[in-house]
Amino acid sequence: MRDYYSAHTLNPPSALEAELIALGLYDYEYKEKTLGSGVITSFIRIKIPIDDSRLPDILGLKQKYQLLGTYYTEFDDDDYADATWLEAEIVSWIGYPKPENSWQEVTYDLTHPDYCRKCGAGFVQINPFRFAKSHERGKTIHFCQPGWVYDALFVRSRVKDELTTQGIKSIDFLPAIEAGSKKSFEDVIQILFGHVMGPALLNTEDFPSEVCTQCQRRKWVPMKRVNRFNRTSFSDQLDMVLTHEWFGSGALAYRKILVSRRFAELLQERRWRGLRLRPIVLE
Ligand SMILES: [Zn+2]
Repeated sequence: MRDYYSAHTLNPPSALEAELIALGLYDYEYKEKTLGSGVITSFIRIKIPIDDSRLPDILGLKQKYQLLGTYYTEFDDDDYADATWLEAEIVSWIGYPKPENSWQEVTYDLTHPDYCRKCGAGFVQINPFRFAKSHERGKTIHFCQPGWVYDALFVRSRVKDELTTQGIKSIDFLPAIEAGSKKSFEDVIQILFGHVMGPALLNTEDFPSEVCTQCQRRKWVPMKRVNRFNRTSFSDQLDMVLTHEWFGSGALAYRKILVSRRFAELLQERRWRGLRLRPIVLE
């Protein structure tokens, strides 16, 4: 794996390109497009490994030319082969929780002392999620998540059965409910995570963060950069867990979902769709 810094902008001034050339950075991405109106727009993306000695220069150009920049990690096949735990990210959605204006009040205990209305951290789920009867979901999708919610996963009943048969640990299941009724969906089943980890995120300096002025908790702004965790927080008795740390910004807060290699292999073997995994590093 390797960490990179990437910066981009629309319609870069030619002076920016001249500065990149002066730095010996020739392999930046540059595209031009002619719009219907005949106007030409252009786009530039600069990518540099963070251990490249020119990184401070690029950060300077980012400032000078108001570029949008981000740090991220690229993984190779060996990283996946070596990973003992991975981070799960959903790539398939199932509409929005119902009722649209009060789903949080209905689903969570918002009077719980851990919950903070300002930053959104600390919600405790006490009821099943509700979805419209005609919720949208791809026919071949196995894992999905509702909009606005980042740390609840839903699966089909055959995935639930398989996870149970294969002995995937530290989870339970709860069917979602058809909005406006008390009827459970047969094929929309939430995975409940039975284990929230203790504080374990190590590379905290790699992520911007916000401290809530109300509850004083810190939230990490999620970036596509590898997360490093304390190895002692993981055990063979766990397969799917939530991080202690909260991620998000503004009023959004969620815990990340981490999964074991055992789960990752099952996902791959069964060719289940809807979930993307990225290695994390245990130290
Ligand atoms: Zn707060």
